[in-house]
Amino acid sequence: MTQVKKSAVKKLKSTAVLKEIMAKHYFKLDKASREKSSKVAWCSSVGPAELLRSMGFLLYFPENHAAILGATKAAEEYIPAANAEGYSPDICSYLTSDIGAYLKGITHLSRAYDRITQLPDPDLLVYNTNQCRDVKDWFIWYSKKFNVPCIGVESFCGLDHVTRDHVKAVSLQMAKLVPKLEDISETKFNTEHFQKTIDLSRRCSILWRQVLESAANRPSPFTFFDGTVHMGPAVVERGTDAAIKYYEYLLTELKLRTTAGISAVENEKYRIYWEGMPIWGRLRKMAELFISLNACVAASTYCNSWIFSSLDPQEPFDSMARAYTELFIVRSDQAKERYIEKMVKQYKIDGIIFHESKTCPNNSNSRYGMHRRLAKALNIPTVVIYGDQNDLRLFSEEQSITKIEAFMEQIRENHK
Ligand code: SF4
Repeated sequence: MTQVKKSAVKKLKSTAVLKEIMAKHYFKLDKASREKSSKVAWCSSVGPAELLRSMGFLLYFPENHAAILGATKAAEEYIPAANAEGYSPDICSYLTSDIGAYLKGITHLSRAYDRITQLPDPDLLVYNTNQCRDVKDWFIWYSKKFNVPCIGVESFCGLDHVTRDHVKAVSLQMAKLVPKLEDISETKFNTEHFQKTIDLSRRCSILWRQVLESAANRPSPFTFFDGTVHMGPAVVERGTDAAIKYYEYLLTELKLRTTAGISAVENEKYRIYWEGMPIWGRLRKMAELFISLNACVAASTYCNSWIFSSLDPQEPFDSMARAYTELFIVRSDQAKERYIEKMVKQYKIDGIIFHESKTCPNNSNSRYGMHRRLAKALNIPTVVIYGDQNDLRLFSEEQSITKIEAFMEQIRENHK
């Protein structure tokens, strides 16, 4: 088995700034919740964040908290509590670990940040089913616990092409949220504020795209594993100046790395695409494994999911509806395959890893043969590993490492 080099991950200097931004985000929410100084909306990760923010809500994203539970390898402690509440072990482990932690009276925010003792109390919860139905179920559960409204948008799924009719249907639902939001925020909807927030989010998205595209350089200054950490502001702070400033800062560091020829993976020889959810509790180990194999995981569907190219302040509702309906996760297999083919060419990818997550079928694309079709169309190896975003009991680590090593061997052969 490959000798994993434990110290080989090159940490970006920007990580210190990232930590500050994430801490500020959570301290601000905590203060608002304790002092009732701002309204707090819980929002699904690809929910209508810009609309909520433009109306003065501070946003809390339960999926981010769930990912923290995964990354701190704590999810399995909490999942049984949600199972006892009636949620199947087969449904989203973000949902079950997050609700389980709540039932046990624990938040990992208090472990990460002194002075935070609980989740910020919501004034309402807002979802978009564009990613899955689980977020809606998850949010309805909390809305009953906190006795606050839960509203949202019902999206399409399996779209090959996003048409004007799709966009209009979603846009109208978003506009219909406004009276309820006005009522709760006690703030009148203001088109200019909304346009400004859309513009800030658009600029964040452009910068985040540039950050990810820096990995198209050979060698790459950035990996998928870096991306899963540095995407934080694009998820929780999009629509603010803070996110824009952060990505300008990170981009400067990446440009310096590129100019100086500093690679994220020492002696990078091979380039891999990661399809599917991260395995949060094994990110570091996976990063070290690929470094040991001289392979850079240079691109992924997951990190790219927070690029919202269609946002346009001139058409705030329609462009937001389009951006959140064009997402990879809600598209047909054909559209997804076209997208991955483009990414493989752009990032000069030698092989694709499909992570089939047991509890997230929505983000597992190998179940109906996509890995086989893409291997044939692109003439590169693909491999499927079985795991989960949060529940490490579902990840067969030794078997996955063996599969990845065999897959890399195939890639090495192709390079001869
Ligand atoms: S997309 Fe997957 S991981 Fe995310 S909330 Fe839905 S089921 Fe859970």
